[in-house]
Formats: sequence, structure tokens, C-alpha cells
Amino acid sequence: MIDEERLARTFVDLVKIDSISKEESALCAHIRKILDDLGAETVVDAAGERVGGDCGNLIARFAGNRPAPPLMLNAHMDTVEPGRGVTPVFENGRFRSDGTTVLGADDKSAVAILIEVLTAVRENTLPCGPVDLVFTVCEEIGLLGARHLDFSNVRATFGYALDATDTEGIVVAAPSANRIAVTIHGKDAHAGAAPEKGVNAIAVAARAIDGLALGRLDKETTCNIGVIRGGLAHNIVPPKVVIDAEARSHDEDKLAAVTERMVAAFESAVAAFGGGPDADAPRLEVSVERDFTRTRIPEDHAVVRLARQAATNLGRTIAAKATGGGADANIFFEQGIVTGVLGTGMHDMHTVRENVRLADMVRCAELVLEILRVHASGVD
Ligand SMILES: [Zn+2]
Repeated sequence: MIDEERLARTFVDLVKIDSISKEESALCAHIRKILDDLGAETVVDAAGERVGGDCGNLIARFAGNRPAPPLMLNAHMDTVEPGRGVTPVFENGRFRSDGTTVLGADDKSAVAILIEVLTAVRENTLPCGPVDLVFTVCEEIGLLGARHLDFSNVRATFGYALDATDTEGIVVAAPSANRIAVTIHGKDAHAGAAPEKGVNAIAVAARAIDGLALGRLDKETTCNIGVIRGGLAHNIVPPKVVIDAEARSHDEDKLAAVTERMVAAFESAVAAFGGGPDADAPRLEVSVERDFTRTRIPEDHAVVRLARQAATNLGRTIAAKATGGGADANIFFEQGIVTGVLGTGMHDMHTVRENVRLADMVRCAELVLEILRVHASGVD
């Protein structure tokens, strides 16, 4: 019932429409027209104004033809750079770009799959419960669309986001993340004439970072120093360094401990250079903010059981998986919508080598279609 050629055409149309984060309006209008024609009740919320973009989140509600609890299906509309003027190439069953841009399979493979599934439902008058399609903006720049989504438009309390690779897996666990912003204030001075009058903020930062364990700390915990900015010129003792860092863990206690350890490393480096809270220099400013909160779906939750039953009906299996990444699903979770993440087959996302096999997109579409069928038949 999934029409492979139609799915391919839909996908090509989507990737040809630029939709860099904050510039999703043309793509949104294109998708909205398709969903309106499929009989959905569509609305674009006010998230665009709140995030400084040209478009809000698109929510499309399908009434369905069977009584069942509403189900959410989600994808994000935005893509990363370089993502303008994508020229898709289809070769040996696989889509890629011409090598100068990303392909945008992240996440337009998902958008195309969801459109195909709802088209197949309508074309074949398949049993289907109420469905809320949620297409977000600005996922790639900090889940901003989801964070500002008007959840009064969403009826569902569970569902699926299509934003991963493995078509035979469902992500049921994602970590919590803290964002750690550090500013080290040193003191400027002429590097040649009076270096003893200065305090080198770069040297303080180096001392702190050198003492930190970074990367994968254990099976469920990671941390990273992602950005470091500082200094003015080769002949000036640098007065300021700004550092953006993060820590993630599936375990809240471990996350708190790692976050504390990172902050402490900067505090003791400042102290080692004779600084402290009351000193002029070096001096530290730190802010720790919760980026997103962990998700965990129990094995016996309807989201997992539905996907398992659908896979079994198709003669396939589906494995519950954990991820180290954060996604819109984390935000939906915080809003009480239990969201499993499914894979569309996309590979090498965020690179100019990004690609996706059409056969994998078909596999994902078949799974989602079967999930809707099982859901409508009231098994769950
Ligand atoms: Zn994505």
C-alpha cells in the first residue's frame, strides 16, 4: 500500500525546498497544502515569532475513522547548513546530494514518510484512529520549535518522532543535559612592556580544561567543552575567555556530579592563579542551565508494545535502544507526551555525504502504517 515511487517524488520535492532553521515558511506552506488536501485540520502556531523565525510549528489533526486515543507523529522541518539549493541525486537505490550541501533527509525523509502513510490511509480507506501530525521548526538549533510549541493544539499523550537512523529500532531512553557557560575574567596588559600587570585568562582556562576528563565518562554519561573564545591580539595579555560546555547523563545523580566537577575545575584553576570570588582577576562567572530532561519509556508502555506488534505483523523485529542525543522527543516528554523515536534510514546526517536508501524509507513507512492499523484496531 506504500507507493515507493510516490514516496520518492514527495521526498525529492521536499528536499528541493530550502528550510534552514528559522526559514521554514516555504516548506511549511508546501506541507500544509498537502495535508489540507488529505482532509486534515491544520494550524501553524506562534512559535515562529517567539524564536525569531519566519514560521511556526505546523500541527495537522486527522479525525480518523475509528475511536482510539489520539496518536502523535512528529518530524522536524528545518535542516542545517550547508543546506541551500539542494540537488538530490538518486543512484543505486540511494538518495544523496551533489556533494555541495547536506541532503536534508534529516528530517525530510520523515516528513515524506508521514505524508505517504497518511496518503495511503486515505487512498485505501484504512482503519485509523485520530492522529496529530506535529512538524516542528528550529529543532537543529536547540529544539526551539518544540520548546515553544502550543501544546493546546495537540490532543495525543503518546506517539512517535521519526528522527533517527535504524529502521529496526525504537529509541526509548535519552539523557538529561546541562549547558555550562563559563566566563573567565583576566586582566589585560601589554604583553611585551608589562606582562606582570596582566592576568592571562587563556592560561587559566587551559589549566582548568587540562584537568578535566572529557568525552564518554561511562556507559550513560558524557561531557564536552564545545566552544572556547578569547583573546584580542598577540601582544595583549588576554583579559577574557568564554567557554561553552555541556554534560549529559541518563542518570540525574551522575549528571549533577559531572556538572559540579566541571565547575570545580574552573574554580580551582582561578584559585591557582591567585583569584577567587572577591578578586579582581582572575574571576569566574558560571551559569548552569538545564538543556533538556531525560526520557525513559517502560518496555510495557503502549508506545513500545504497538511498535513491537506492528513489527511482528510485518515479520520483523524492533529493538529498544538508548541514545546519547537529545531531540524534540525530550521536550514532548516534559509535556507529558510519551514519544518513541523511530529510524527512517538516514545516514551521515549534518554532512555533505548525508544519504538515505529509498528501500529503508519504505520500510519505515510500512512500519508506521502498520502501527496506525494496530492502534485503530484497539489492540492497545
Ligand atoms: Zn533530525
